[in-house]
Amino acid sequence: MAAAEDNLSLVVHGAGVIRLENRSVPEPGRNEVLIKMHSVGICGSDVHFWQHGRIGDFVLRKPMVSGHEASGAVIKVGSDVTHLRTGDRVAIEPGVPRENDNFCKTGRYNLSPTIFFCSTPPDDGCLCRYYVHKANFCHKLPEGVSYEEAALIEPLSVGIHACRRAGVTLGSNVLICGAGPIGLLCLLVAKFMGAAQVLITDLYPERLLAAKEMGADITVQAKRETPQEMADIVSGHLSGMPDITIECTGAEACIQTAIYATRSGGTVALVGLGSPMVNIPIVNASSREVDIKGIFRYCNTWPVAISLVASGRLNVRSLVTHRFSLEDSLQAFETTHQGHGIKVMIRCDKDDPL
Ligand code: NAD
Ligand code: ZN
Repeated sequence: MAAAEDNLSLVVHGAGVIRLENRSVPEPGRNEVLIKMHSVGICGSDVHFWQHGRIGDFVLRKPMVSGHEASGAVIKVGSDVTHLRTGDRVAIEPGVPRENDNFCKTGRYNLSPTIFFCSTPPDDGCLCRYYVHKANFCHKLPEGVSYEEAALIEPLSVGIHACRRAGVTLGSNVLICGAGPIGLLCLLVAKFMGAAQVLITDLYPERLLAAKEMGADITVQAKRETPQEMADIVSGHLSGMPDITIECTGAEACIQTAIYATRSGGTVALVGLGSPMVNIPIVNASSREVDIKGIFRYCNTWPVAISLVASGRLNVRSLVTHRFSLEDSLQAFETTHQGHGIKVMIRCDKDDPL
């Protein structure tokens, strides 16, 4: 069957085992659309499932298609779908709630415990040629938004959700720990939401250079400072302690820095996911009323993010440093694993080759 042979998919089988396979082309259900995939970005978590076969309680127990930062074109529409047509270009929102529970009713559907999420076990992702998704979670793209920009809406959404929860507003002074793709997107969003000054830290000068180019006011390379020393360096640069810290590394030292550095009454948003158990200066946080907020993915961000990118005033394009075809996706994963560049993008559409 020609069609069945042509759904090339990148499948993780377990720790250290990943390969390209042909899967059958799925049929959309009544509320679904079939998408001819175009661009898929690689996320650190995709690489982590390949390297370790698990992230916390999410354990790979059967082969899973990778990928969740994605865009493509609708090529078949389920019978009940009214807002999309064949030929529409869409950005895929990978988290789809399975039930209308209280989290959904209150708008925080990212917290629904039974949510479907592309490339989080056991749910398949969309790093393949053809993929079926719930139509309500496929967001139509305006003409000016490219497929690569559309794939970047997913990590951009993490930045929007983090800045919203942290309460970034006009005049905020913000510390961001970590200048990986997520820290950089938090930087873009924080500046856009009116932050007066954003200071960003990283271990690597290349990443800080990228941050500078993307609008960071101050960059600081982390070396061997203690968290308290780092907090002093930050407040020295900002002429005071930041109102908000967005932690985007998951490193214990940075979580500690985040608490020490944030002004009394300020907010720490924990985006980075590292060790499940860490030591933090909790009395320091409590006695200064520093609010510590968790961040889990996002909700209600796609329409906003698409409008922002379409307006041309929020530029995410410079994040993409490497591009590979779907056939070369193992090399793409290796590139991300080695820490080269910032965002590695995979082109799935063989009719629009690189
Ligand atoms: P990344 O690994 O590319 O970036 C992390 C950056 O932190 C790197 O550039 C690294 O050099 C830097 N870093 C590490 N230790 C540091 C230190 N001590 N001081 C300063 N910088 C340091 O990862 P990413 O894709 O940008 O994601 C960032 C984090 O966000 C990861 O932990 C990821 O798991 C997490 N994440 C969370 C969510 C969520 O829903 N909460 C969503 C996406 C990603
Ligand atoms: Zn991700």
